[in-house]
Amino acid sequence: MSPLDKDLGLYVHVPFCRRRCHFCAFYLEIARADRMALFHSALIQEISLYRRQEPLDGRALQSIYFGGGTPTALPARQLAALLTLIRATWPIDSTAEITVEAHPSSVTMRDLAVLADAGFNRISFGAESMVDKDFDSIGRFGRVQDTATAVQAARRAGFSNINLDLMYGLPGQSLQDWIYTLESLMTLAPSHISCYALTIEEGTRLAQDIARDLVLPPDDMLQIDMESEAERFLTEAGFSRYEISNYAKPDHVCRHNLLYWTGAEYLGLGPSAQSYLQGIRFGNVADLEAYAACLEGNRPPITERTILSASERQRDALVFGLRLLRGVPRKAITAAERDDQIDELISKGLLDADHDRVRLTSLGRRYADTVAEQLF
Ligand code: SF4
Repeated sequence: MSPLDKDLGLYVHVPFCRRRCHFCAFYLEIARADRMALFHSALIQEISLYRRQEPLDGRALQSIYFGGGTPTALPARQLAALLTLIRATWPIDSTAEITVEAHPSSVTMRDLAVLADAGFNRISFGAESMVDKDFDSIGRFGRVQDTATAVQAARRAGFSNINLDLMYGLPGQSLQDWIYTLESLMTLAPSHISCYALTIEEGTRLAQDIARDLVLPPDDMLQIDMESEAERFLTEAGFSRYEISNYAKPDHVCRHNLLYWTGAEYLGLGPSAQSYLQGIRFGNVADLEAYAACLEGNRPPITERTILSASERQRDALVFGLRLLRGVPRKAITAAERDDQIDELISKGLLDADHDRVRLTSLGRRYADTVAEQLF
């Protein structure tokens, strides 16, 4: 296990967006000043509660990640002050990766300068596509050229580690549209790109539109072609695919993402945030009102808590570890006594193995969840 595998992270969920995209099932509210003020004061109370309980045992954080929602829905100075409070509460490794997600169409040059000055050293923009009609099809506000403006402004503000989130398989999106998006973004020289296949989540506007035959569901074969094209294009452009959906330039693998895939520990703050510490998974209530009420009463806003058994931890290590292109140590499979299943999956071309490690093949990556199910 590499030292990175032992990283400790902090995640802050900021549950606000200006508008909900049609495919989005995250816990969030439409940004309103009074709700954001309630969240901000409750979050400060949650940090203060954990300061007294010391669940991190004085260990230093190697990663801090403000996600959402849209963290930059909060004023940049408020985000800066929250990071200062976190620094005063927990030790932070001098090389820590400190990320903030931002919406390219609402963040300003001044915001970006405040965030960089505060110590955020990585920024993740939800670019999604570089074709305007794709924004319309998913109900996203803004215009595609906002991404270029925001990335250039972020660089001027001092950010050199810049991620762009993209989506493929959007309603009406062609393979040519997807290739155009990839080509257009290369001029912005991001250090990391995440490419997510559109999935239809129950209860979303998109799921309703598909059920009413207003929109076609994603075409599996087209998504496979788009995934292949992304891998080919980004590899040629100097990115390394290190996880099913993630590509990085050398030395820019996302440390925070790695926490989840390597069984490392993290504490989540904010409504709906998930945590994993000392073999226990726990999750905050996905309701701002209830979250704030718990903290007002000095109670942790936790609704679910699961103590993982040794075999559950082993299972998670395999399921998440297989998402990484480097795969998992072969001995982890042997210990799980799954040799027959592994051999069968290898014979079907879904897994690949050498003396030391087992990994998904490119075919296996398309069926990662099915492969994981067969293993357990
Ligand atoms: S901006 Fe992101 S978090 Fe907000 S609604 Fe759209 S997809 Fe969801």
